[in-house]
Amino acid sequence: MSIQTATKTLANGVEMPWVGLGVYKAEAGNEVERAVKSALEAGYRSIDTASFYGNEHSVGKAIAESGVPADDIFLTTKVWNDEQGFNETLEAFERSREKLGVDVIDLYLIHWPVPGKYKETWGALEKLYEDGKVRAIGVSNFTDQHLEELMKIAKVKPMVNQVEFHPRLFQKDLLEYCQTHDIQLEAWRPLGQGDLLDADPVQRIAEKHGKKPAQVLIRWSMENNVITIPKSVTPERIKSNAEVFDFALDAEDLQAIDGLNEDRRYGYHPDNFPYS
Ligand code: NAD
Repeated sequence: MSIQTATKTLANGVEMPWVGLGVYKAEAGNEVERAVKSALEAGYRSIDTASFYGNEHSVGKAIAESGVPADDIFLTTKVWNDEQGFNETLEAFERSREKLGVDVIDLYLIHWPVPGKYKETWGALEKLYEDGKVRAIGVSNFTDQHLEELMKIAKVKPMVNQVEFHPRLFQKDLLEYCQTHDIQLEAWRPLGQGDLLDADPVQRIAEKHGKKPAQVLIRWSMENNVITIPKSVTPERIKSNAEVFDFALDAEDLQAIDGLNEDRRYGYHPDNFPYS
């Protein structure tokens, strides 16, 4: 098994890679193009971007120039908060698709649950799915309450919920809720933007396995059945973050890392996001 072949089956049967490259704050132009090309060379087959990141055009360019067939790459993008609403989302999708230069987006997500808007937005995602323009649809930053509300009106259930998830924010209840409803949880900020790499058990466990702290954190998400998208723009780190298929964490390792949980967020709680 390798980063190129390791996939998880979503509720609708679509295969999604276990590990992808996140490109938040990877600058449009050379920086993100080099990151995407390095990732594809290292075997990554999943890229996570968003219209908000302002780098979709460069991501698309890098994919086109990489020599890897676009069909082999699982591409995720997201509708931003000020693009939500039924017609607005359909238009935002076309803008994203054009920038990315692909016919079909693999996974389209609602970036944040904008109050009063996200249900209408979900209707647009369902239409895109029914029209075959996206292979899977999902949400991001949804709590179990948002999911409950969404499920009251949804014709198609979200296949993915992408949320902040790492050892300091081990969202066990949300994970359980998503598992019960066959919604795949996906971790953003899996390395705590680098802050978690120095944490004692992570360092110690990395040494024990002859691995890097970042690899231990990526593996921790996977061991919890959570897909993950670590970000880096440094080719050596991108390559190293992919080398997580030749070891496993044992029960003792998991217990020690789980002990880091303090329900601490590096980003916003979805209920406190400055939506307007
Ligand atoms: P992250 O936890 O992936 O940390 C990235 C940082 O960790 C890098 O900038 C680098 O400084 C460091 N790093 C990476 N690999 C390393 C290595 N091998 N050794 C040492 N340091 C290393 O943080 P993130 O970028 O915030 O999250 C990952 C991705 O999740 C994003 O790029 C984006 O695609 C997605 N995301 C989504 C949302 C959302 O609201 N849906 C929010 C934030 C991020």
